[in-house]
Amino acid sequence: MRDDIYIYIGKNASDPLIEYCKNHHLDKLMLVADDNTFAAAGKHLSEKLKAAGFDVKMSLLKGEEIVANEQYFVQVMLDTGNEERTFIAVGSGSLTDITRFVSFHTRSNFIAYPTAASVDGYTSAGAPSVIAGFKKTVYCQSPLGVFGDIDVLSAAPQRMSASGFGDMLGKYIALADWRLGKLLWGESHDEAISQRVRVAVDKCVERVHEISQASTEGIQALMDGLIESGLCMLDANNSRPASGAEHQISHHLEMKLLWQHKPAVLHGVKVGAASVICAGYYDKLRQISRAEAIKQLDRAQQPTREQYEQEIAQAYPGIEDKVLAEQEPFISLSEQGYRDLKQKIADNWAEIQAIAASVPSSQQMAEWLKQVGGETDLTALGFSSAEVKEAVDYSHLLRNRFNVDKLSHLCGINLK
Ligand SMILES: [Zn+2]
Repeated sequence: MRDDIYIYIGKNASDPLIEYCKNHHLDKLMLVADDNTFAAAGKHLSEKLKAAGFDVKMSLLKGEEIVANEQYFVQVMLDTGNEERTFIAVGSGSLTDITRFVSFHTRSNFIAYPTAASVDGYTSAGAPSVIAGFKKTVYCQSPLGVFGDIDVLSAAPQRMSASGFGDMLGKYIALADWRLGKLLWGESHDEAISQRVRVAVDKCVERVHEISQASTEGIQALMDGLIESGLCMLDANNSRPASGAEHQISHHLEMKLLWQHKPAVLHGVKVGAASVICAGYYDKLRQISRAEAIKQLDRAQQPTREQYEQEIAQAYPGIEDKVLAEQEPFISLSEQGYRDLKQKIADNWAEIQAIAASVPSSQQMAEWLKQVGGETDLTALGFSSAEVKEAVDYSHLLRNRFNVDKLSHLCGINLK
């Protein structure tokens, strides 16, 4: 399916977009933008499309914070009216998700015209949405194409590029966590996809200086990396190649902001800062000898079902049942299964060390983030120390995945 996604990131992206629409007989278009993205790209694109003979309508979303929720879904539908049009999302994360959602539910075509290299989700089929106050990823559709104008992307606010870079740095953690998941929890793993993500993030890091300068070369490398990461998720059929413990910490904090009716913090900015924490776990892991690990494993006690229930009820009120169901494979691990898991960790300590060695140090990660103007500390993003501690302590419960923090929470390896 994803082979069909047409990708163009480069100069004058409106030209290949026009050609694409002509070739595919997409004559009636619906642009979705907000005030910022209209000024940055929507106005120019709309004029060019009209001059090229297309029938163009525009849904201009208003508000302090554009969220992929019912209010905006309905607004785009009302602006479109009862007619078939190809939707073009002119914007970054939320605008693209709103457009993805509405286009899918009206059986319409959808094209992404990103205005910032801020996330890796442009090619995704899922739309992270807020429905009745709860965040969930609604399965929708991938775009027919992604057309990114490098001059528009390079002119985006630096915090947007810092977010994209943070999302990319998280891949170092995600890839190592994925290998741990395969080794210790039998998760399916694809080495070729893993390598592709690794190459993508390494290329971004090589260009960290250019990204900090928002040069076209730097932003091109960043956007190419984000797109590749998105395609890898499509090829893997899940987010595992691009999302590990760092994304779970970020996801936890995202939910808390939503529940507290506080404004969102850019996804990749949180992921970047959370990656520094998780790189710290791998730092610590590298210092533990096999003999010491065995001592710690011997002391570890399997958490009881009651402990899981108590922690989940405390951290995730309102969605306890969902979290419990997700976590059930860990909760229902038998005593023998738990002993086997600990034995597996001891037996594979050299391999675990090799995985840990693939992760850059937390200090290095923090330096890269600082270089692009990203935050290295979640408390600097407005979260209290208690909120960060809660995210660090409980976010491993959000997924049935064996990430690095399971070594500590489940198996007693001291990573803090
Ligand atoms: Zn992400």
